[in-house]
Amino acid sequence: MTLSVPIPGRAELGLDHLLLDVNGTLTNRGVLIDEVEDRLRRLRGTLEIRLVSADTFGTLDAIAERLEVLALRASSGEDKLRVLNELGRERCAVVGNGANDVAVLEAAALGLAVLGPEGASAAALRCADVVCASAAGVIPMHWCYCCYAVNPRPAGPCVRCGQPVEAPAGLSFDDQLMWALGHPDGDRAVLAAQSLGVRQVRSAVSALRRVVDEDRDPYLAVAALRSAIAIAGRDELRDWLEQLAQSDSFMVREEAQRALT
Ligand SMILES: [Mg+2]
Ligand SMILES: [Zn+2]
Repeated sequence: MTLSVPIPGRAELGLDHLLLDVNGTLTNRGVLIDEVEDRLRRLRGTLEIRLVSADTFGTLDAIAERLEVLALRASSGEDKLRVLNELGRERCAVVGNGANDVAVLEAAALGLAVLGPEGASAAALRCADVVCASAAGVIPMHWCYCCYAVNPRPAGPCVRCGQPVEAPAGLSFDDQLMWALGHPDGDRAVLAAQSLGVRQVRSAVSALRRVVDEDRDPYLAVAALRSAIAIAGRDELRDWLEQLAQSDSFMVREEAQRALT
């Protein structure tokens, strides 16, 4: 897992790790910031993410569990620096806002200081490579049109597959919905599946069926199944529905059986 990050005026960075301060960086008075949570979840497949915090509010374990990432306790700047050195500072980006982040922000290949809702240490701002208003702003969020990898740039060759990150010009709204069926963010894919059904997009039936057959997420599979039925009708899909009525997935099986009766 490597993320290539172009830095103006410097050689492109190859990052494997993201080390995140928690309080004031990912949280506002101890509570995880929604937008940050959303973005971190999507970045998990691209970078090894670790939280490193003094755990002032005693919420570190709960936050790490919610984000499904590892957490390490480190209160002083030296402790954080030790963690960074273990990971390898030249392959690591650091995000932080406090006085105890100064050493790691300076030492890491990429130091990102966050002003955040609680403000930041002036020393942290001074020694960072980049200062951002929010941790959400430092997390790259461009999905490759071909492979859905998270990319640091909105256009140009994808860090994973080399194809253009941007969507081809002139894509219709229905095409975009079909693209979103494969989205790694499950909520987006479910919404796309539902919208295709509501819009009765005939050309989406085979893509919807594929999503059901892949069964990567039961909620997505059920949404796609409902939309496929809404568009094509039960009679046209009968053979397939009969197979699905024997599916290993309880939710898919129920939905198919309901459609057949
Ligand atoms: Mg902090
Ligand atoms: Zn790609």
